[in-house]
Amino acid sequence: MILTDFHTHSYCSDDGVASMHDMALAGAERGVSIMCITDHVDIDHFETGGLNPDCFSHWDRIKEEYALAVERLGGCIDLRLGIEFGEANHAPGMAQSIAEAEGLDFIIGSLHNLWDYPDFFCIRYKSEQECRELAKKYVEEHFELVRLGCLDVLGHIGYAKRYMKRRGFDIGLEGLEDRLEALFKLVSESGKGIELNTSGLRDNTGTTFPEKWVLKLYREAGGEIITVGSDSHRPEDVGANIEDAYELLREVGFKYFTVFKNRKPEFIKL
Ligand SMILES: [Zn+2]
Ligand SMILES: [Zn+2]
Repeated sequence: MILTDFHTHSYCSDDGVASMHDMALAGAERGVSIMCITDHVDIDHFETGGLNPDCFSHWDRIKEEYALAVERLGGCIDLRLGIEFGEANHAPGMAQSIAEAEGLDFIIGSLHNLWDYPDFFCIRYKSEQECRELAKKYVEEHFELVRLGCLDVLGHIGYAKRYMKRRGFDIGLEGLEDRLEALFKLVSESGKGIELNTSGLRDNTGTTFPEKWVLKLYREAGGEIITVGSDSHRPEDVGANIEDAYELLREVGFKYFTVFKNRKPEFIKL
């Protein structure tokens, strides 16, 4: 089985700690054969939710790091370059021009904060009702992300549960089935995909993002494009739970998973 990891962060992300080379080497040692570095490009500032016009100013540094890593790795792993693009729908014009940057293999479109809200990580959730309202708004904003047309997959759908659960509210996307079905139909018809992110299996959430029942809705809506990623921010997490994710995909009926090169999907048999 070919192991891949299409969601990893180096120290070119504010919350990363290791070089691209060290992340990729850890992947190779774990048996990962195709891997993508997806450092953060967040259109909004995480504490205020306000626009960050300098969000892509580290792109040259990213490209230099990547070239250096590929050279030093000497072909021991197929390393690709992507970004995790946060809140691209909050500045569509800027998002389109960033997405056209040369050298990008892959773009994950994520939402870490909603319009006029700080990052989900920063919110002090006070009630179940508040969490449900935020979950609803979260799903709705994903329609905007897909309509931008410049993102390859939607990242870690439902991940806000991690932070809500920490504050005592175990709230996922239950009750939003109709909107999720419509969203996934739009994703499929637009030739886009989603990712299956394993990071929740390593923390208190205890689930993938999206959860299995949501993944099933995606499949039933005709979803074909699905990448798998650990969302690792340190070398020891690269490749974590990827085989569990493959098993989950098989269980809900997928026959293939996806990797990207030059922004084009490639399908690998499960
Ligand atoms: Zn993210
Ligand atoms: Zn990430």
